[in-house]
Formats: sequence, C-alpha cells, structure tokens
Amino acid sequence: MNLILLGPPGAGKGTQAKRLEDGRGLVQLSTGDMLRAAVASGSEVGNQAKAIMERGELVSDDIMIAMIKDRIQQPDCANGFILDGFPRTTAQAEALDVMLADMGLALDHVVEMKVDDTALVERITGRYSCAKCGAGYHDEFQKPAKEGICDSCGSSEFSRRKDDNAETVTSRLASYHTQTAPLLPYYDGKGVLAGVDGMAEIDEVTRQIEAVLEEG
Ligand code: AMP
Repeated sequence: MNLILLGPPGAGKGTQAKRLEDGRGLVQLSTGDMLRAAVASGSEVGNQAKAIMERGELVSDDIMIAMIKDRIQQPDCANGFILDGFPRTTAQAEALDVMLADMGLALDHVVEMKVDDTALVERITGRYSCAKCGAGYHDEFQKPAKEGICDSCGSSEFSRRKDDNAETVTSRLASYHTQTAPLLPYYDGKGVLAGVDGMAEIDEVTRQIEAVLEEG
C-alpha cells in the first residue's frame, strides 16, 4: 500500500507516519528528514537547501523530485510507503504520477490531516525530538513520562528544529496554502482523497487513518 499524508506543517504527519510504519511495515519517506540529513552531511543538495529551509520556503521541484525518485526505488519501499512532506506542489504531484506509473505502482490513499492554523503555531513552536531515536515530543502536549528521558530509547539528548520558530512558521503556512493546498482538489479528482480530523487526540487520528486504509 502506498499513501500520502497531506497537511500543513505541525498537522502530525510525521507522528502518524511513524505509527503506520510500526503497525503496518510501511516505510516513512519524509522529504524534510532527508533534507535535514543532507544539510547535516554538508552535501551539495544540503548546502543548496539550508537557507531556503531556514526561510520556510520550498526547495526546488527538481531537487525534490530527484530525491524521492531515487528513494522509492530502494528495495525497502517494495512493501509500500508513506509519503510525508511530498508532494508539496502540483509539479511534484505530476512527477510522482509519472514515477509511479513507470514503476507499475498505484497510489492507494491520500489522507488530508485537517488542522486549524491557530493551533499549528503552538504545536510547532513547542515541539522537539529525541536526538538519538527521533521520537517526537512537545513542551505541553506530549512530555516524556520521565522528564528529560526519552520514552523510546532512554536517551537524555533532545533537539529542536531550526525552522520551528514563530517567524518561519508563518512563511511555512503561507507556502502550504498557496502551493500545497491545490493538491487537495487534484487528488480528490482522482478519487483517492480522504480527510481525518487532525485536531483530535493522537490515538483518535490514528484510528481515523486506519479506518480510511481499511476501506481498501
Ligand atoms: P518538513 O519537515 O516536511 O516540515 O520540511 C521542512 C522543510 O524542508 C520545508 O519547510 C521545506 O523548506 C523543505 N521541504 C521538505 N519537503 C519538501 C518538498 N516536497 N518540496 C519542497 N521543499 C520541501
């Protein structure tokens, strides 16, 4: 099964993708994570992307399409994948259609995670993750059971994304509304779009996504 989680930054795409990865053996393909790894490694792509990401703008379609094309051809994607953060523009969605057709693959579901803009700023500015295993936390909404210790791996090192600040969030939300939201009618027209309530509790959102996937 191949699916896309579509929604603004802070909607919970990464959290839900990790749950689906664990529960269904699907691979999470987060273009944001891939770009952050490229920036950390100092690669050419990373150097090109760094300033763009810090401004909350979108990295070029050419770079993103090449990155995802290379990734979905890896053997671990054969069982199915969850696209998290891709596509973000119509050009990326069209390129994905071509890629999937060339590989003889289908897109089974596009799940829109609906969240109010006002909640997103609060969600994004308070979030952080375990520096070792990547488990996600939030200053108010999702604290580790024992303060300062990761629930998943026991590490005491955490990190915050450089672009998770109030100024950049505004620009990321604007990019979402102008460049990514047009993908909703695009996928609705293909009959693969379903919506879930991204404002609900994390477990409830997972249940709603599972219900969409069970529809076949
Ligand atoms: P994310 O982790 O999905 O919030 O992505 C972090 C940043 O990486 C975004 O604000 C963009 O600058 C960049 N990015 C991630 N995925 C894409 C994409 N598909 N197209 C363009 N830029 C992207």
